[in-house]
Amino acid sequence: MEHAWDQDKIIRVDMTRLSITIEDFPSAWKLLGGRALSAKILLAECDPTCDPLGPDNVLVMAPGTLSGTAAPTSGRLSFGCKSPLTKGIKEANVGGNPGQDLMKLGYRAVIVTGQPADRERRYGLKVNESGVELVPADDYKGMWNYALCEKLLADQPKSASVISIGPAGEMMLKGASIACTDDNKARRPARQAARGGVGAVMGAKGLKWVLVDPAKRSLRRPDDRKGFSAYVKEFAKDYRASRHANFKYGTSAVVPAANMLHTFPYKNRTEGRNPEFEQLDGARIRESFETRGGEMHACMAGCIVSCSNIVHDKDGNYKTSALEFETLTLLGSCCAINNWEDVAELDRLCDELGLDTIETGAAIAVYMDSNGMPWGDAEGAKKLLAEDVNNGTELGRNIGDGALAIGTARKHHRIPVAKGQALPAWDPRPLKATGITYCTSAQGGDHTAGLVIDPKISGEKAAIASQEVQIVNAVCDSTGFCMFLGPTIEETAKFFTPFFGETVTREQIADIGWECLADEWEFNDRAGMTLADDSMAECMSTEGIGPEHSMKFDVPEEIVRMAKVRQPATEKFWRRSPAG
Ligand code: SF4
Repeated sequence: MEHAWDQDKIIRVDMTRLSITIEDFPSAWKLLGGRALSAKILLAECDPTCDPLGPDNVLVMAPGTLSGTAAPTSGRLSFGCKSPLTKGIKEANVGGNPGQDLMKLGYRAVIVTGQPADRERRYGLKVNESGVELVPADDYKGMWNYALCEKLLADQPKSASVISIGPAGEMMLKGASIACTDDNKARRPARQAARGGVGAVMGAKGLKWVLVDPAKRSLRRPDDRKGFSAYVKEFAKDYRASRHANFKYGTSAVVPAANMLHTFPYKNRTEGRNPEFEQLDGARIRESFETRGGEMHACMAGCIVSCSNIVHDKDGNYKTSALEFETLTLLGSCCAINNWEDVAELDRLCDELGLDTIETGAAIAVYMDSNGMPWGDAEGAKKLLAEDVNNGTELGRNIGDGALAIGTARKHHRIPVAKGQALPAWDPRPLKATGITYCTSAQGGDHTAGLVIDPKISGEKAAIASQEVQIVNAVCDSTGFCMFLGPTIEETAKFFTPFFGETVTREQIADIGWECLADEWEFNDRAGMTLADDSMAECMSTEGIGPEHSMKFDVPEEIVRMAKVRQPATEKFWRRSPAG
């Protein structure tokens, strides 16, 4: 019997020779996609000691294993490389349609190597039914993401989608993201693979955009069509009945709860609560839908969660999408910018320039905290992005390079990072298990690596919880599922079994997650990282928040290290969701 994956391919793009080769995808890797596949490729092909912005770094674009299938909310695309920010391995994944479009064409990965001799040149990659072509793209040089996509898609069929970088990626700023167009008529570059400077690596390779057009290619065919279709229906029904309420209004709805838990950081994390949190509550954004338009929507085809908000300005014109909890926290509360409309403008600027809103918000907060500009100066923050970053001034480069860069330049003492990457909103002081994730994940300070929203958990139980969610998240990031769908390991096995037409056990799926973590740790070891790197900024241990400033990150080293030694699975492990 011919399987859907028998003809799968890998695209290799050599940016030194400006050449393309197409290879068969190894059948031994058929269960791997996204983050796990990216880690395997990087471990095999990328020198971990290389200059992240030099020719020896490898940029992997890998759709999840189930991307391009009828599994709900399963089309995410991973970008992997050595990070210019953390100097370790990096994976950042994103919604939008390019992941599914690549998989419909049978491409399991795009591996970009080398660097053009002429660093002023820009290139575009076209991927469609006719093949793969590298073309000059100098006339897109310096373009902001929205204008770029409009121009590139103007004469393209509706089936096409775009992966692109903005000026921040071209300038190789360490907070640079990679944008993907979302699933609506306008096909906006509103979805960002944001963390770790993946956009800087794409920029270092001279690749400005990738245009993917699957034309009328159909969804990938499962081996056991009936079984797969039955489980898709069963899962979707159960999801709608019991879980949809969790993310119906998107992540911005968690602002009040996070504030209550002291994990809505304020003024560069000197407090865990914001006295004006209600102004940044996602409820304000939803209220605006009635008078201005805007809505909740699905950022990629086949998503049954639809947690992404489309935000309009006072005149009813599109402003940005999606305005998430992390962005409201880092670009808003952390900078004491307490008006969601200002944050919406800052979010749009970040998406235009191609910048991570977490890293950039943290960098601006550090700049404010070191007396670079007043707290709450929204107009100043917009100018920093639209002028300083865009024009590449020294200040703009430091902001674009992230919290550690601007903090170091200003000799500031409070720089909340782990492995050089800005901490996300979820604070490690009330949430110890999440703090253990920030310390031990090869990715550095990243809530998507393993979030545990449980302030009561501590000690060994926190280390075990951290490890379990790190495995669950590694699985999720490898399958193409969005973490907001929240599939458990058991549910993932139930999708894999009919798709591959063979029994795939929950233990096999868990092993994919653990092996992914082990590959990432191995890469970082070879890059020269040591146990000392499994830590976070000192200010998280010395500066408390909450009642009498008593909440500190005070987890002993031996507990932190437990998260990297595989523990027996608890019964709860099989029911854990990647969404925290
Ligand atoms: S759940 Fe939300 S973020 Fe995830 S794919 Fe759907 S709309 Fe996008």
